[in-house]
Amino acid sequence: MTSKITVAYGDGIGPEIMEACLKIMQAAGADLSYDVIEIGEKCYLEGHTSGIRPEDWEKIVSNKIFFKAPITTPQGGGYKSLNVTIRKTLGLFSNIRPIQSFHPFVKTKHSELDLVVIRENEEDLYAGIEHRQTQEVYQCLKLMSRSGCERIIRYAFEYARHMGRKKVTCMTKDNIMKMTDGLFRKVFNDIREEYPEIESDHLIIDIGAARLADTPENFDVIVLPNLYGDIVSDIIAQISGSVGLAGSCNVGKESAMFEAIHGSAPDIAGQDKANPSALLMAGVMMLNHLGQVEVANTIKNAWLKTIEDGIATPDIFSEVSTSKVGTQGFVDEVIRRLGQQPEHLPAATTQQTGGEWDLTESALTIQERKLEGIDVFLYEENRDPEYIGNKLTELSQDNQLVLQMVTNRGIKVFPNGNPQTYCTDHWRCRFKPENTSGALSQKHLMSLLTTLTENNFDIIKTEMLYSFDGELGYSLAQGQ
Ligand code: NAD
Repeated sequence: MTSKITVAYGDGIGPEIMEACLKIMQAAGADLSYDVIEIGEKCYLEGHTSGIRPEDWEKIVSNKIFFKAPITTPQGGGYKSLNVTIRKTLGLFSNIRPIQSFHPFVKTKHSELDLVVIRENEEDLYAGIEHRQTQEVYQCLKLMSRSGCERIIRYAFEYARHMGRKKVTCMTKDNIMKMTDGLFRKVFNDIREEYPEIESDHLIIDIGAARLADTPENFDVIVLPNLYGDIVSDIIAQISGSVGLAGSCNVGKESAMFEAIHGSAPDIAGQDKANPSALLMAGVMMLNHLGQVEVANTIKNAWLKTIEDGIATPDIFSEVSTSKVGTQGFVDEVIRRLGQQPEHLPAATTQQTGGEWDLTESALTIQERKLEGIDVFLYEENRDPEYIGNKLTELSQDNQLVLQMVTNRGIKVFPNGNPQTYCTDHWRCRFKPENTSGALSQKHLMSLLTTLTENNFDIIKTEMLYSFDGELGYSLAQGQ
């Protein structure tokens, strides 16, 4: 059955490489029809802040499958990332980047690299919720949900199970971010139990990234929160030989978007120099996703044979290459090899992604949520913690809530701070009831806030402190 997709040619090298890919896919017999839409620089400059015209959303939403060339984001403020908008609007929670080296046909220091980075796509610091709160301090909110973690981690294990991968490695910084990254790791620990046949381990992201860059052959599937996944997948693509070789897909429950991992390369646009391979590999992933597995394998094998024969665009041309070709020449060489198998590199055996995968989510357990206090964030230019701490202690004497501590950038500075600690103009002041027997209500918190405001404290924001089934739902201060 013909699959209807949406296609965008993008900016820079986008039109050249998209045309190249569609030509190869057509020659291989891909059964596709498409709506073409315009996205990127022109739409941004027309005043569409997300880089897409409103009427084109309908095509993306109804066709569900989006094959996208890279776009240029104009310099300057006010432009929103089209990718982030598409991922969130369509619920594309999973970003998959299979990365492989093609030694000895493409130069790389890592001859046995063959791994898949699976990155959470919607949460973490990419929620884009940022505020400037004082003269000195800016914040970005890191939001992670249990369901978000579960979706991506289950996807990673299902991917390993169905694609014949042996191991899933999780990387977080849960030694520092015990609640957010801690949640990701906890969900990983829960879900790995359901996949006993798959080896699994966890590494702290700093040493994990270092080992990845050094010995990538020891890794198989890697599942990561959004920011770490973004960074790690680019490092791996680069050390595999070229960012011009890796494709990626963004998958949700209903829709999916397929693209190259590189950008629009304006420096080589229109010069017949661009390597279409990354977008072509994204196209192969798309055909697999659509169930056109045979055509996907035919294209991948012809492409592998082209690489083995030493046919190279300028970005991967080296002394091991036999012929330097432009984008068009490369396309012709791949088309000429359709139906051939690689002789040295492993032939494509990819199975359909997402077909029979079990992505059911566990029901959320509702726990007893108890209000235990409040963190009040203040803007105060007087940088003396004793001044602030003593004044707040005095004020809270008439209130049910008393000051527990003051921190500055997370470090406890009152009571018993260290005079060497550098303080900004941004203070977090924790208040809890003196007597824990009575129930604390929002009313008590409001009364405290009124008292603070009446005494000229400048409140920037508040965070309620809750426990869940008796477990603290907030971190303790460093030094507490
Ligand atoms: P880039 O990936 O476009 O280019 C980096 C370098 O890699 C350049 O030297 C380029 O010539 C080379 N390169 C990239 N793709 C290549 C290919 N297929 N063949 C040969 N060489 C290739 O990154 P950049 O220069 O930082 O960004 C350029 C523009 O792309 C920016 O406007 C950026 O916002 C945008 N961008 C878009 C996406 C996307 O649409 N998904 C992703 C990243 C960057």
